[in-house]
Amino acid sequence: MTLSTKAKDAYYYSDGWHQASSTYQISNPATGELLAEVANCGPDEAAKAAAIAWDSFNSWKQKTAFERSEILMRWFDLMMANQEELARTMTLEMGKPIKESRGEVAYAAGFVKWYAEEAKRVYGETMPAHLAHKRLFAIKQPVGPVYGVTPWNFPSAMVTRKAAPALAAGCSFILKPAEHTPLSALYLAELWEAAGGPPGTLQILPCEDPVPLSETLMADPRIRKVTFTGSTEVGRILYKQSAQTIKKISLELGGHAPYLVFADADLEKAIPEVIACKYRNAGQTCVCTNRIYVHSAIMEAFSEKYAAAASELKVGDPLDDNTDIGPLVDAQGFAKVQEHIQDALSKGAKIITGGKALSGLYFEPTVLSQISDDMKLMNEETFGPVAPLISFETDEEAIQMANNTPYGLAAYLYTNDLSRAFKVSEALEYGIVGVNDGLPSTPFVPFGGVKQSGLGREGGHWGIEEYLEVKYISMGLPK
Ligand code: NAD
Repeated sequence: MTLSTKAKDAYYYSDGWHQASSTYQISNPATGELLAEVANCGPDEAAKAAAIAWDSFNSWKQKTAFERSEILMRWFDLMMANQEELARTMTLEMGKPIKESRGEVAYAAGFVKWYAEEAKRVYGETMPAHLAHKRLFAIKQPVGPVYGVTPWNFPSAMVTRKAAPALAAGCSFILKPAEHTPLSALYLAELWEAAGGPPGTLQILPCEDPVPLSETLMADPRIRKVTFTGSTEVGRILYKQSAQTIKKISLELGGHAPYLVFADADLEKAIPEVIACKYRNAGQTCVCTNRIYVHSAIMEAFSEKYAAAASELKVGDPLDDNTDIGPLVDAQGFAKVQEHIQDALSKGAKIITGGKALSGLYFEPTVLSQISDDMKLMNEETFGPVAPLISFETDEEAIQMANNTPYGLAAYLYTNDLSRAFKVSEALEYGIVGVNDGLPSTPFVPFGGVKQSGLGREGGHWGIEEYLEVKYISMGLPK
């Protein structure tokens, strides 16, 4: 199966494929060429989608968990059967190197498989009663129609990390994909349809301006849950809007991940981990390290080896199997990386390697030293291939610097000392800690942040709870 022309031809997916009255264009960031003319949905489509989601929820929730599980399992099989085409679509729309895109499709499909299995394990509880004639139960039921909003940096995985547990739980799901990446989402809908997903259970509404469409869904009382992955700034808007109708909400927001490299680290093993953590997806992930703290005793050796490894990364065509770093997603993202480097240099930073813009939206892998806390890159997500190196003396100082941020998504450390590994990971105010592991994400673990990095967890058995309500039933037996 290949991607139907519908997705590229201004259709959106609701209770079937519909052509939108207006369209917008998306381009390939690697070449700047026009990629597709896609549906531009607005408040009218959103209002219809809410009604469809309500109707489909009422029939979908009646299916047994086993029936839902079978459809999800077929969806997983179809994703894996179409891995190459899905990966190519993703690379074309946002520039992720193809080898990483293949990995993302497998990761995205992993959520579908996990929740196909988890659907069958939504267990209730019985409680001992305080009166002899009573029987007390707690059952779990789907929360209702869900509205999901996803970012461009993981065009498939952020969709299935939300839609798979929601659908497994018995919810219907309306997705507003990121402006840059509607094709991956529409492709997933096509596979959902092919897997036997009933019309209206999964709807995909691409749009160029998210505000009018989103406001319509946020105000609709039939939408009982909102799940968002993106920036903290937009998360705050949705959090406020959800108060209108008291929607249940999950927020996966921005991060500013520190990586602490202790003096006992084996540099030959540590450097590849820190490199992968920094430069995957050209540094455009919420869990990419943004600040690398290195013990002063090993700083010289670390910076030399790290800069050498960074400069060996191959920057180029993301469709090439050998490419490590593709283009940045758009001119805005590119300008932010340039701005962060200029700001750091103007405040005394030194370039160890890289630092230059290449042609198009490509940027050299960059390593900087002589960093101070007032630099933008120490306070905002750079979302690019830029690594600032900062030295520290004691564990306490490293922990204090790592925690000195409003964000709390992912943090990392590298050490050979078991006691330090436990103590430091417990002291870090983060939802995720990678110990000697720069790539901790996988479908069956709890992913999410503390502080201003979010609310709730996705993945594992935690992920499905976000789409369930607990109902208490008290049954009195005739005395
Ligand atoms: P963004 O917040 O600008 O956009 C994310 C989504 O929100 C897009 O679909 C966009 O169309 C939509 N959006 C924007 N304004 C909106 C509004 N007013 N109302 C409703 N929807 C709106 O973020 P981005 O630039 O697409 O993605 C990068 C951000 O996502 C980074 O901050 C990154 O850290 C974060 N992120 C977090 C996670 C996580 O799991 N915590 C994962 C990936 C990305």
